[in-house]
Amino acid sequence: MRPYKYTVGTDPATSINAVRNNPGAKFLGGGTNLVDLMKEDVSQPNELVDITRLKFSDIKTSGDAVMIGAAATNASTANHETIREKFPLLSMAILAGASAQIRNMATNGGNLVQRTRCTYFYDVHMPCNKREPGTGCGALKGMNKNHAIFGWSEKCVAVYPSDMAVALAALNAVVHVQGPGNKQRSVPFAEFHRLPGDHPEKDNNLEQGDLIHSIELPENNLAGKSYYLKIRERSSYAFALVSVAAALEVDGNRIKDVRIALGGVAHKPWRATIAEKWLAGKDATEANFRAAAMAELKQAKPLEHNKFKVALAEKAIARALQGAMKGGLYGMEEDMEG
Ligand SMILES: Cc1cc2nc3c(=O)[nH]c(=O)nc-3n(C[C@H](O)[C@H](O)[C@H](O)COP(=O)(O)OP(=O)(O)OC[C@H]3O[C@@H](n4cnc5c(N)ncnc54)[C@H](O)[C@@H]3O)c2cc1C
Ligand code: SF4
Repeated sequence: MRPYKYTVGTDPATSINAVRNNPGAKFLGGGTNLVDLMKEDVSQPNELVDITRLKFSDIKTSGDAVMIGAAATNASTANHETIREKFPLLSMAILAGASAQIRNMATNGGNLVQRTRCTYFYDVHMPCNKREPGTGCGALKGMNKNHAIFGWSEKCVAVYPSDMAVALAALNAVVHVQGPGNKQRSVPFAEFHRLPGDHPEKDNNLEQGDLIHSIELPENNLAGKSYYLKIRERSSYAFALVSVAAALEVDGNRIKDVRIALGGVAHKPWRATIAEKWLAGKDATEANFRAAAMAELKQAKPLEHNKFKVALAEKAIARALQGAMKGGLYGMEEDMEG
């Protein structure tokens, strides 16, 4: 690991200025991703500005929404009474990720900005356009079993690893960002992360020095029928091969509102808008769930080693929607262990 300066951020403005004025500086949340990347020499910041002591860890109701602080830990967010009651999908997704120890350290802001788990990205001896633009993509024609089936480019086929973000995409969350000069902006979740295009080195639309201070969860009527399904190679401590955040509002058996987002399939949480449109106004039946999933997966473009993800995602969507119909957090124990 290379030497770096450690600064304790005491207030947002000075923390933002410190990072904005030094291209080599980064914010430090729980450090569970950034410090790993530094140890592997993938990331070489010359200064870390610790933002965990800023007053950004509240979880509170504000008008028609609930605001969760960026410095709140993943564990305190998942276990918060209001989140469990109103947004069980988010609790399920967070608890499906990492391990209890990591969730106790990891912050919500850091979770959204964590980097891909592509093995070529982590190996500094391999070509990787995300780590070193212009060197090529080792995974495009290499080992791409864990990689994207939607939205990839010739420059990068990586997937985004967060579980929490998949639920936030389905919940139409809004990310509140504070930039230099105290400029505040609100970014709809769908616009927060990026597809790789020609610039896979950029995972999201934050600029140097932009600080996430909170995540807004707009109220909805989906709490009773939501489900996070994560398919992975081990039952704990593993990233998703495919995951699905599914939530429904029904009138009788007729679908009034449906949200489906996929993880493990693209460079950002993939909102399954084709399946959602297919299901709008229809009956909540297994046959309809399967047909909607098929319609979505028709758009998939698998790589050489991940064709299995197409069938897996199709089945996972249908199963997650069925799980959502059964309802809520407490039907999920089998998938939440770990
Ligand atoms: C063994 C292991 C298994 C894991 N398994 C999973 C899993 O299954 N599912 C899953 O979703 N995740 C998993 N994770 C990832 C984990 O969730 C992330 O490492 C964690 O959420 C990152 O949060 P952090 O606060 O530690 O971020 P840090 O490591 O501190 O920071 C990550 C990045 O975010 C930036 N950042 C931090 N806070 C802010 C902010 N407020 N505004 C702007 N930028 C900010 C930092 O500058 C840095 O670039 C795993 C991690 C490990 C080590
Ligand atoms: S998929 Fe993206 S992260 Fe992985 S090697 Fe290719 S460019 Fe790098």
